[in-house]
Amino acid sequence: MWHIRESHGVKYLLSDSALAGGFVAGFTTRLGGVSSLSYSSLNLGLHVGDARERVITNRRRFAAALGVDLGCMVFAEQVHSNRVEIVNTQHCGMGVLEQETAVSKTDGLITSEAGVMLVLTFADCVPVILFEPESSVAAVVHAGWRGTAASIVRTAVSLITARFKVSPISIRALIGPSIGQCCYEVSCEVAASVRSARLAPAAGDAERSGEQAQCPRDIGVEPGRRVRLDLASENVAQLLDAGVPSRNIEHLKTCTSCHSDLFFSHRAGRGTTGRFAAFAYIPLEGL
Ligand SMILES: [Zn+2]
Repeated sequence: MWHIRESHGVKYLLSDSALAGGFVAGFTTRLGGVSSLSYSSLNLGLHVGDARERVITNRRRFAAALGVDLGCMVFAEQVHSNRVEIVNTQHCGMGVLEQETAVSKTDGLITSEAGVMLVLTFADCVPVILFEPESSVAAVVHAGWRGTAASIVRTAVSLITARFKVSPISIRALIGPSIGQCCYEVSCEVAASVRSARLAPAAGDAERSGEQAQCPRDIGVEPGRRVRLDLASENVAQLLDAGVPSRNIEHLKTCTSCHSDLFFSHRAGRGTTGRFAAFAYIPLEGL
């Protein structure tokens, strides 16, 4: 399903099912870069306080490891919105060298053009990669709790089905490393707003922890209570709502906070940390 590759010192996870569908897609780890301390070492985020030249060096290593040009990458500003943008070769290079040129106020990128590498960066939020092999459409989505509450994943699936005339039944989804229910304590208000984005209860809800079940459905009934939220499963529920079959959804189930030696985690790093990437690319010359 997945394998770990190491190239130019960079270790990353590559999806076998994406490769079989003609895509190069996966997630970087934090290993193989030149940044130090909280950003050690493969920090790919330009906006988190790390030295710019180190981030650019890390991005060059990342590009070399994948065998792509740095200039074919497209980054988004990522503001926890539900805005999803369709990009093409004209967007190549946006946000690569400066955060200011990233695709503005956007948290999801879609492309159907070969040679465009979609890149979003993460430290606990849920990375969702979508691909549809027949129409050769790929997407990367950044779903933190605000984006999830605003249904960004369902929005991305709807946009793909509407613009590229594909059925959600043929869309495949990869859920990458993100903060697990084990480590994600939030207020009841946050949990309620995320869960209110669902159209239908997800399978397995009944088996969830008692702690989560205690969260009052009615926002404000017990302000101040903290609960543990399973943000990745909320996004799986949205994919199912959107018509993506469960057999097409691969969930890595790796907690960034528990595995902060491998991935950046905002919570584990107490707010000061780097970013790893979720990426999707349609090769120019096929695989
Ligand atoms: Zn954890």
